[in-house]
Amino acid sequence: MPKPVAERAASNAPKVGFVSLGCAKALVDSERILTRLRAEGYVISPDYDGADVVVVNTCGFLDSAKAESLDAIGEAMAENGRVIVTGCFGVEDRRIRDSFPGVLAVTGPHQYDAVVNAIHAAAPAPHAPFLDLVPRAGLRLTPPHYAYLKISEGCHNRCSFCIIPQLRGDLASRPAADVLAEAEALVEGGAKELLVISQDTSAYGLDLKYTASDWRGSPVKARLTELCDALGSLGAWVRLHYVYPYPHVDELLPLMAEGKILPYLDIPFQHASLSVLKAMRRPANQEKTLETIRRWREAVPDLGLRSTFIVGFPGETEEDFAVLLDWLREAKLTRVGCFKYENVEGAPSRALDGQVPEDVKAERFARLMEVQREVSAAVLAGQVGKTIDVIIDEVDEDGATGRGPWDAPEIDGSVLFEDAGDMEPGDMVRATIIEADDYDLWAEPVAE
Ligand code: SF4
Repeated sequence: MPKPVAERAASNAPKVGFVSLGCAKALVDSERILTRLRAEGYVISPDYDGADVVVVNTCGFLDSAKAESLDAIGEAMAENGRVIVTGCFGVEDRRIRDSFPGVLAVTGPHQYDAVVNAIHAAAPAPHAPFLDLVPRAGLRLTPPHYAYLKISEGCHNRCSFCIIPQLRGDLASRPAADVLAEAEALVEGGAKELLVISQDTSAYGLDLKYTASDWRGSPVKARLTELCDALGSLGAWVRLHYVYPYPHVDELLPLMAEGKILPYLDIPFQHASLSVLKAMRRPANQEKTLETIRRWREAVPDLGLRSTFIVGFPGETEEDFAVLLDWLREAKLTRVGCFKYENVEGAPSRALDGQVPEDVKAERFARLMEVQREVSAAVLAGQVGKTIDVIIDEVDEDGATGRGPWDAPEIDGSVLFEDAGDMEPGDMVRATIIEADDYDLWAEPVAE
């Protein structure tokens, strides 16, 4: 069950409970709303009981996410009764109000003004906001040592299984100076790793015609290479998510080779069969993609590649699936996530023939994960003996858990230390890999 975001409650200022669901992009939206509320003097309530109003930031990407969002709204209604709904699922206003007629307001994704106005109406802001209490980097839901950095909203692609462009609109990039000012504030606030996110990171700036904006007295183009170059000067790890293999991604390799950004690319390939990719309306040239990966690895031998795939897409035959498994064996990706296709309401793929039965999807899911388990075990075994930098996420009596350059928080594997010594979360530790299993590595710190 989702829990309201807890924060130290104080004073008799109006209290807002907050439930944040969904992906990292929704999390960033939650952080922005919380930052603004805090700047206005609101207190974030640690529980439903103490809140004057509860905001539920929902996810509407898949039908299962919508069901989870409805559950969370129902829980907030039952526990508190004064509820404002926002986020991706908010575009289905009628469905939410039919289920919960007592909801105070419903707003869509990244409608920051609308959701804050609804909060003002439900629990008026105090007269004297304590602006100084708000850190320059804003309030964050991640640990202090890493932070998500959203560089654009929306998407100009039209993948047939996806309703994100309907929910969040077309690509809308932030000027480079805005992104860099936020990144600077995050680093000043203690972030040692910046996780760059968007719907399509490679497309950054296209809508702005790559127009430059001034940062530290010089123009920086709203273009991924220039942005990464500038981000790489801040002294934090820079990790790129949701990158599509457009030709200009090659320009990022020298930045990786120089150590300015991490040798890590999260590329959602989704499938390898040409006919499935065509039905998904994705770029369909997986042979060329394998060649591209080979070229990238020549330029940056330590490149970590992460991807996600969908199994059971309408029309996916056993042959298509075999193509995907062969491609995975060949590509030897470092990290892989897999989803069973969901027939999302409003997605064009819903109308396609050849819907795959659930038991076949489940069976293909298990087979894909087994193939990738073997790939992962072999790839990680090849890491033993290497010395890498590790960022520490957690320390307890069993040791320390961290991540290397190849591992993003929440979705990838871990680097584990049996003896944490004096390590603390957020420390950067130089360590040698001593052992590997299917998904994780064990390491020992290098003596200073
Ligand atoms: S690239 Fe495709 S899957 Fe990703 S958000 Fe855009 S339309 Fe959706």
